Amino acid sequence: MLIAAACAPVPPGPQGPPPPPPTTVPPGSKVYLTFDDGPSIYTPQVLSVLQSKGVPATFFVVGKNAAQHPSTLQQEHSAGEGTGNHTWDHQDLTTLSADQVRTELQSTSDEIANLIGTPPVLWRPPYGAVNDNVTGIASSLGLSMRLWDVDSADWTVPGVDSIVSNVVSTVKPDAIILFHDGSPGDDEDRSQTVTALPTVIDRLRSMGYSFGSLVTNAGASSAPTGPTGPRVPIGPE
Ligand SMILES: [Zn+2]
Repeated sequence: MLIAAACAPVPPGPQGPPPPPPTTVPPGSKVYLTFDDGPSIYTPQVLSVLQSKGVPATFFVVGKNAAQHPSTLQQEHSAGEGTGNHTWDHQDLTTLSADQVRTELQSTSDEIANLIGTPPVLWRPPYGAVNDNVTGIASSLGLSMRLWDVDSADWTVPGVDSIVSNVVSTVKPDAIILFHDGSPGDDEDRSQTVTALPTVIDRLRSMGYSFGSLVTNAGASSAPTGPTGPRVPIGPE
């Protein structure tokens, strides 16, 4: 029926909704890339991307994975990346005794110091789970906590496009961005993270962001001295 067809509502065009307006950020805006749960077999690929793009990052490493991949941790450090403490075996510290919390953190700091010659000054709690006891113990061990502002959700293996869009749709100046170069059991696929990373970096650059470091590998001298907590990036670059 040609007439009926002619009277039908006009279907939506193939082009879909209009693109969002270009995002602009204040001059000098920085973001901070962080990678948790490694080292792993994927870490060298992450390092290669970071090096080719000229972008620094901080790796919050799981102690037992550092023990499994010692040369990879040393490679991170040699590349100038920051190293943080992400506990020995990625437990929820709020469920542990004070002695257990202390052991989780100290054994990891010791392992890192043994491998790269300097202990970490930053730490990140597994699952972001802390209470006053946990933060007090970490502080007593010289560790300053850094959480994150933007979650790539890469650990859910949502697809490369989703990882990119999770970051660029929620990024803001001074954001600490969370990725994963490994997994607590050292057995999960992080190839989507590796594939997404160059696009994430390019998109953030096109939005006007540059990339800073939460910590340099200069060691404890780069530790923050004031009150610290999440969302307080330090370091000039
Ligand atoms: Zn983790």
